[in-house]
Amino acid sequence: MISHALPTLFAAALLSLAASSAHASKQAPVIGFSIDDLRVERWTHDRDYFVEAAQKMGATVNVQSANANEAKQIAQIENLIAQNVDALVIVPFNSKVLSNAIASAKKKGIRVVSYDRLILNADVDAYISFDNEKIGEMQAQALVKLAPKGNYFLLGGASTDNNSRMFRAGQMKVLQPLVDKGDIKIVGQQWTPEWDPMKAQSIVENALTANGNNIQGIVASNDGTAGGAIQALNGQKLAGKVLVSGQDADLAGVRRVAEGTQAMTVYKPIKQIASSAAEMAITLVKGGKPKFNTKLNNGKKDVETLLLTPTLLTKDTLDIVIQDGFYTHQQIFGK
Ligand code: BGC
Repeated sequence: MISHALPTLFAAALLSLAASSAHASKQAPVIGFSIDDLRVERWTHDRDYFVEAAQKMGATVNVQSANANEAKQIAQIENLIAQNVDALVIVPFNSKVLSNAIASAKKKGIRVVSYDRLILNADVDAYISFDNEKIGEMQAQALVKLAPKGNYFLLGGASTDNNSRMFRAGQMKVLQPLVDKGDIKIVGQQWTPEWDPMKAQSIVENALTANGNNIQGIVASNDGTAGGAIQALNGQKLAGKVLVSGQDADLAGVRRVAEGTQAMTVYKPIKQIASSAAEMAITLVKGGKPKFNTKLNNGKKDVETLLLTPTLLTKDTLDIVIQDGFYTHQQIFGK
């Protein structure tokens, strides 16, 4: 799940290109793409598709990874601002700490797009994501369909990520009525620092111990944490017996869905969000109006937002990712 092959060379090559052409021409905008954590599989796909789409539209991209470090991300963003990029596209590590950095970007006329995760209390120009509440609903729905009664543990994402709360809101929309009816009991809930799979594993190990292994469903908010949860279940010979949710259609997640240790994942077409985000940033730089379909309040303003549609993946529907060219049959099933 975590790949340590960091794209430093890649970033460095783009950096030199970027430095020379910043603000050179609106026809060839320079975009700074500040990503929370490129060690997580999903974001490497976002980076690749984003850079490809932006380059096709004549832009240059300077990619930075903060490796889940708040101070590092702020420094990287300040550095991009100092280089006079035309636009900043940001996947925030901590949704709440970028107000000042964004204010200085805006002062310089730099356009700011919040990518996948909403940046709170800041003057961002646009937000692009998937319908994250819907994803939370899908996660809980898939589990309660298979285990309508029982003990559930809520394994949340990072508390620093606004999405974690949106996933939880969606999950509770499905679970609360069943809790009220007495069918489901939530035996514990915890946020997973940095969405770290190892931390997720120890959270679930503790939850299993605390409940004498009497848990029927673990609502994990992504595939990385689901992987950690399933490792913990493995330790108790419970993998495949306790339901676990996920999202991202990470290769490891999809394989677990195929083998039956993970009940579902969610496929979010990364190519679509990445290319729409590149188009959005470039349109904003050129003074145009990008396509939006809703507005979300980030504590400072109603942010123009484009929410894309996620797709539920279960064992029976894995073909979707093959047909979409996201994985080959061989990658998933090994034959
Ligand atoms: C994203 C997920 C991702 C998680 C951890 C969330 O904000 O929406 O797709 O798995 O962050 O990186």
